Amino acid sequence: MLLPDHSYVKAESLEECLKTLRETGEKAKVIAGGTDVIFNMRLKLFQPEVAVSIRGLKDLLQVEELDDGSVRIGAACRLADLIDHPLAGGRYPAFRQSLEAVASTHIRNMGTLGGNICLETRCWYTNNSDQWREGLQGCYKTDSELCHVIKSSTKCHAINNSDTPPALIALGATLTLQKEGAKREVPIAEFYRADGVDFSVLGPGEIVTHVTIPPVSDRQVFIKITPRKGMDFSLGAVAARCDGEGEQISNIIIVLGSLVTAPVVLDKPAQVVLEAGLTDDAIEKAADLVRDELGEVSNLYGRSIYKRQIAIVLVKRALTQLREQ
Ligand SMILES: Cc1cc2nc3c(=O)[nH]c(=O)nc-3n(C[C@H](O)[C@H](O)[C@H](O)COP(=O)(O)OP(=O)(O)OC[C@H]3O[C@@H](n4cnc5c(N)ncnc54)[C@H](O)[C@@H]3O)c2cc1C
Ligand code: SF4
Repeated sequence: MLLPDHSYVKAESLEECLKTLRETGEKAKVIAGGTDVIFNMRLKLFQPEVAVSIRGLKDLLQVEELDDGSVRIGAACRLADLIDHPLAGGRYPAFRQSLEAVASTHIRNMGTLGGNICLETRCWYTNNSDQWREGLQGCYKTDSELCHVIKSSTKCHAINNSDTPPALIALGATLTLQKEGAKREVPIAEFYRADGVDFSVLGPGEIVTHVTIPPVSDRQVFIKITPRKGMDFSLGAVAARCDGEGEQISNIIIVLGSLVTAPVVLDKPAQVVLEAGLTDDAIEKAADLVRDELGEVSNLYGRSIYKRQIAIVLVKRALTQLREQ
C-alpha cells in the first residue's frame, strides 16, 4: 500500500513546528516515531497534505528533575530510552512496566512517549485498507454516520489501546499541551474523551510537548493481558498505586486501559479497599464492582463478556500484587 501524496516538514525548532501546524491546520499530521501514523497513512485513514516531524526537536527530548522532585519528560523521547532511564523507568516501576509492554524492541526503538499517549484509537474496520472499507461503507471515523461495531451507536467505539496512559494516570502525571502562542497543563486523567473519533482534548495545531510525573514513592503495578507474549496490543490492562504497607492503605488509584475508548479510573472499587484495606474479602468486593464502572463495552477485539471478565481478573491481580509489595 502506497503512502498518499504529501509533503514532509522536518521542524528545526518547536516554534517552527507550531507555526507550521497553525498555518497548515487540518491539512497537517504530526509524525513522531511514525510507527502508527505511517501505517494509518498507508491505509488512507489519514491523508495529510503535510507531515510534520517532531522527532528531532531538542526541546522535546529531555528528561529532567524539577525543583519539587517531579520528573519532566519530553514527548519525543523514545520508549526504549525511557525504560532504563534513572528518572523515568528507573524511578517509577509501573511506568517502566507499561513501557516494556509496548509492542517489540524494534517498535520501542522508534516509538515515542508522545506518540503512545496520542495513539489513534483502534478498530478492526479502520485497520483495513480503504478499498476493503469501501465494501462496507464508511463509519464515524471516516465519512459516514454509522458504526460497524455497535450498529445502533451514535458514536465511535474504537479502543484506546496505548499502554503508558493507565500507568501515567495512576501516577498522577500532567501533560503540557502547546500550540503557537499558547501553552496549558492538563492532568492526563482529563486528557481522554469517551469518543473514538474525538478521543482527546488536543485542539487544532496543538501538540503534547512534555509529561510531568510528580514524586511518587507508593507501591505501584501495571499488568497487561495479550493473546500472545510480545508484539500484541492489549486485550486489557490495569495500573494501580497505593501507599501504606500490607493490607493498610490510605490512598489508592486503580485505572483500566484498552477495554473501551478511554482509560477508566475505578472509583467504587477503590473506595471499597480504601475503607476495608487490601483484605481478600475487600478485593473480591472491589472486583465485583468493576463491571458497573466500565460502561458500554463493545465486541471489538474480543467478546464484551470476556473483556468484562478480564477487567475483573486484572483488578484482583493488581490489588493482590500491591498488597504483596
Ligand atoms: C505491530 C505493532 C504493534 C504495536 N503494539 C503496541 C502495543 O503493544 N502497545 C501500544 O501502546 N502501542 C502499540 N503499537 C502502536 C505504536 O507503535 C506505539 O503506541 C508507539 O508508541 C507510537 O509512538 P510513535 O512515536 O511511533 O507515534 P506516531 O506513529 O508518530 O504517532 C501516533 C499518533 O500520535 C500523534 N502524535 C505523535 N506525537 C505527538 C505529540 N507529541 N503531540 C500530539 N500528537 C502526537 C500522531 O499525529 C499520530 O496521530 C504498535 C504498533 C505496531 C505497528
Ligand atoms: S468503532 Fe465504529 S465508528 Fe469507530 S472506527 Fe470502528 S466501525 Fe468506525
